[in-house]
Amino acid sequence: MARRLTDLMRVFHERGTRWTDQIRFLVETPLFADSQLTSLVQVADVCAYAARRFCEKGEAELFNLIFPRFHQAGTRLVGVRHYTGRRQCTCQICLRH
Ligand SMILES: [Zn+2]
Repeated sequence: MARRLTDLMRVFHERGTRWTDQIRFLVETPLFADSQLTSLVQVADVCAYAARRFCEKGEAELFNLIFPRFHQAGTRLVGVRHYTGRRQCTCQICLRH
């Protein structure tokens, strides 16, 4: 599996994706991961940051860019959760879960 994912990342770096032209400012950073995987780790970090800022601070600007990309099962959102305990929440994550 590791070899398969590494090969997939190599193709990603060689060919880019449909977002390559739109995401120009991600830079490689040193971390303990396969160097060919770091761009996706950065993308994951940006998505986590956007989701956290949305859930904790209600900041929607970044989150609204990634929200349509979260996985859905039919009309139900399954790619992200907003844990609020017993508190009712009417944010767009909770409404679609
Ligand atoms: Zn919510």
